[in-house]
Amino acid sequence: MRAAIMPEAGKIELIDVTLPDMMEDEVLVDVKAVGICTFEQGFYYGKSGGFPFAGGHEICGVVEKVGSSVAQDLKPGDKVIVLSLTRCGECYYCRKGYDNQCENAKDVQKIPGVDGPGGFAEKFIAKGYEVFKIDESVPFERGILAEPLACVTHSMNVSGINTGDYALICGGGAMGIIHLLLAKQRGAKVIVSEPTKERREKAFEFGADYVVDPINEDLQAEIMKITDGRGVEKAFFTAGGKVAIEGAVQALAIRGTLVIYGGTGANDEFMVNPKWFHYKEITITGVTKHTKETIRVAAELLSLKELPLDHLITSTFSFEEIEAALIEARQISSYRPVVLMDK
Ligand SMILES: [Zn+2]
Ligand SMILES: [Zn+2]
Repeated sequence: MRAAIMPEAGKIELIDVTLPDMMEDEVLVDVKAVGICTFEQGFYYGKSGGFPFAGGHEICGVVEKVGSSVAQDLKPGDKVIVLSLTRCGECYYCRKGYDNQCENAKDVQKIPGVDGPGGFAEKFIAKGYEVFKIDESVPFERGILAEPLACVTHSMNVSGINTGDYALICGGGAMGIIHLLLAKQRGAKVIVSEPTKERREKAFEFGADYVVDPINEDLQAEIMKITDGRGVEKAFFTAGGKVAIEGAVQALAIRGTLVIYGGTGANDEFMVNPKWFHYKEITITGVTKHTKETIRVAAELLSLKELPLDHLITSTFSFEEIEAALIEARQISSYRPVVLMDK
């Protein structure tokens, strides 16, 4: 079968690889669609290191073969999403139920001899617990959103968001929009802070109640106007660095919670004043990855009619065009380019 490998930054090649024999607890998946996430862009654009690298972690496909000891009810032909979880199930955190913090979740080698999740490939061998059945009605390209939906569901759960809450979302990229959709779905009124006009307009189309330009508008004043001077119950940082994080903390209402979802840089350290916690009883927390439970939820979210998920799939490419997909992913107008294996 063919797999796409990055031998170095700025280069991606389709090569022939032989998959190892499948184990009894594994499932062979015929890959149909793979999303391009910031994780893969990081390697392609040289921000992340470790080559050769096999990208592709947002995977949707069809079951081809099921190992004899796979516990769930899976059969060839089932439509599934696949997430590399590499959860040991035995470490302290797995047993505590914090499986996204598994101590033994080390780098995987799905393509023999190459680090990385390895979903940019025609076939994929996954552990049974990494495979989740989805509704037959879900198009393959929408299925790749299960991974970001699972991460954002974790973010929503940690925030404790409730009906009637005001939620500020910093950043209107794909992750910001998914936060917006799930916050709306949980009954919040959503304010998206995003410097790009085009993305603010898109956020409106996706259902934002308010959008603010944090560069040319006074974010705090706008938020206080919207919330009758109280601030937001929940804030989610998806992008924008230190300035956005500081703005989000200032925007919190009494007992408000900020969730740091997005990645930050070396210069994004910020000062906190203990008085904020003492008098305003605010919470600053964060999330990483997804849990088995939030993936299960994400698999269900994929077929909810009320979520306009298909609008996040901004372009599709054939496997041969994967490099063009990585380039497209950088465009402001792009949320999720998807590689379709049968295109
Ligand atoms: Zn992703
Ligand atoms: Zn573990």
